[in-house]
Amino acid sequence: MGNKIAGHKFVPYGRQWIEEDDIQAVVEVLRGNYLTTGPKIEEFESKLAEAVGAKYAVAVSSGTAALHAACFAAGINRGDEVITSPMTFAATANCVLYMGARPVFADIDPQTYNIDPSDIRKKITPKTKAIIPVHFTGQPCAVDEIMDIARQYNLAVIEDGAHALGAEYNGRRIGAIGDMTTFSFHPVKHITTGEGGAVTTNSRELYERLLMFRSHGITREAAKLTDSHGPWYYEQQFLGYNYRMTDIQAALGVSQLDKLDRFLRKRREYADRYNRAFEGFDGVVPHYQPPNSISAWHLYVIRLELEKLRASRKQIFEELLARNIGVNVHYIPVYYHPYYRKMGYGKGLCPNAETFYERAITLPLYPKMEVEDIDYVIKNVKAVVGKYRVSTIKPGTDG
Ligand SMILES: *Cc1c(COP(=O)(O)O)cnc(C)c1O
Repeated sequence: MGNKIAGHKFVPYGRQWIEEDDIQAVVEVLRGNYLTTGPKIEEFESKLAEAVGAKYAVAVSSGTAALHAACFAAGINRGDEVITSPMTFAATANCVLYMGARPVFADIDPQTYNIDPSDIRKKITPKTKAIIPVHFTGQPCAVDEIMDIARQYNLAVIEDGAHALGAEYNGRRIGAIGDMTTFSFHPVKHITTGEGGAVTTNSRELYERLLMFRSHGITREAAKLTDSHGPWYYEQQFLGYNYRMTDIQAALGVSQLDKLDRFLRKRREYADRYNRAFEGFDGVVPHYQPPNSISAWHLYVIRLELEKLRASRKQIFEELLARNIGVNVHYIPVYYHPYYRKMGYGKGLCPNAETFYERAITLPLYPKMEVEDIDYVIKNVKAVVGKYRVSTIKPGTDG
């Protein structure tokens, strides 16, 4: 460790919070009869559905599996187009490719960083089958406008809620507005099962398709079988996967879900503290919060006003890292990746997303942080950014 970083431990951008009762819940399953496809799965699913206000939840092995299952259940096929945001983790677009369909990127709104409904309209063609909006950082996207577009053009809406467990839009939790909503329980997300994910929905039909997709497309339900050979009989009716979550994971999920509100309170308290610190601080723009929603604050992203600074984002990023702050960047626009470039996507597709990408830095935010960690980050962001401000800026705003 260099001398500059002495005095403060490394603060990662996100991490889990596992307590003794979480460990006990897992140990209990390990001592019991079911390691997988047991009662903890349904317990977790009904608790999750209740937490987000949906009728059904299907637990799967990851957030990516949840997106894949939702695309399958929505009937997305070879040749279809699906509109999504480039400002997301690659999985949100990859799931479209899994179906042999084509992701079409609509640009983001420069203020909210969420997919811009007016650009969705521009990207609709006769091949468009669905929209996958992302609630980037936990800030709900323009759900009402997107649902209006979906109704007008008869499109499915799959919300990628990986950042948005506990987020609220017009007084309702994210999870039961679009046709399906997907969640991830990766350790940096709101609650964790190690790896894990889920799809929530209000549709019985989608729910049943999701359940079968999770397990090879197999059913044992008498009403669904086309034949009957005896009590052992089951049928595979379409090509599914093994995307099951284990009971070990579900037990952890049940225990973690009980803490969701406490975790959310902490995230919101810390985000508030960052917001107050950076409000009016030249060079740094906090994330705009629309009045009709409450963010779940998965990420705390600042946007640098590079025109006011004599340093690049990279320089500032590296200096913060050298001060033991686990900064990150969310996200590299999905279509910048070589795999997407090879398919013909390229720079210039979504100018707002590209401009945002060049200026974004994610600061550490997770419930297990201490207030002192937040203050350490604030102090250092102000010191590093302040150092590079062009001198024409009015003094006295950097409290
Ligand atoms: C984490 C994440 C995913 C993928 O979830 P996994 O559980 O890691 O597969 C998908 N979309 C977004 C926006 C994410 O942040």
